[in-house]
Amino acid sequence: MGVSAATWRTLRRIHTQITDLKDRLGSGPRQLKAGQVAINKLEVKTVEAKDAIAKAKVAADQRQLQLKEREDRVETLKGKLNTANSNKEFQAIKDQMEADDKANLVLQDEILEMLEKIDTLEELRATANENLANQEAEFAQLSQKIEDEQKVLEAELERVNAELAEAEKDVPIDVRADYKRLSEAKAEDAMSEVHQDCCGVCMTLITPNKLSDLRMQKLIRCSTCGAFLFLSENDMPS
Ligand SMILES: [Zn+2]
Repeated sequence: MGVSAATWRTLRRIHTQITDLKDRLGSGPRQLKAGQVAINKLEVKTVEAKDAIAKAKVAADQRQLQLKEREDRVETLKGKLNTANSNKEFQAIKDQMEADDKANLVLQDEILEMLEKIDTLEELRATANENLANQEAEFAQLSQKIEDEQKVLEAELERVNAELAEAEKDVPIDVRADYKRLSEAKAEDAMSEVHQDCCGVCMTLITPNKLSDLRMQKLIRCSTCGAFLFLSENDMPS
């Protein structure tokens, strides 16, 4: 049973279109997934920034409490100076007070440093929050864009699928099942245009006999890849 090159050429074009549409339909969800991963990472950073501040605040509070206790102790020691029973005891209390005062100065410096660090952490947190908000806004825009595109692509795919069903009516009945199976597996490569006497899909050389059969619109398949062969428009007998 004969079949024209135009039938396979049309089918190859339609299958190529379908492959392209499916690729584009698949790219939207991939982009969204990547966007979501980026958001998740930024969310982790904001939580980390928040935790770092909380920890730094606890540490600063502890130091401040320590300072308060030491200052209280100095006050207590000051009271004890008046009740000292001996010069030695008086001197010991004095020494203790001096040592505590010195230690308190170090603590005050530490606390100051910690408060400065908290300021820096607050800035980092603000930046992390801003980055997250920006990414979320971008993601919302992208989602909308992709949703709109998907609708267009799906409509286009539906139209091309209908075109395919129509074109498939020209596939001879006796090879229709083979064609279906092959086109489901290899899409546009189920049909192959002959280029310089070779199969355009797998480059297998086509015998002269097969080429002359093709010119007579006989149904010929590539002996290697199984594609339904068709001649290019230039090779067709006029
Ligand atoms: Zn081939």
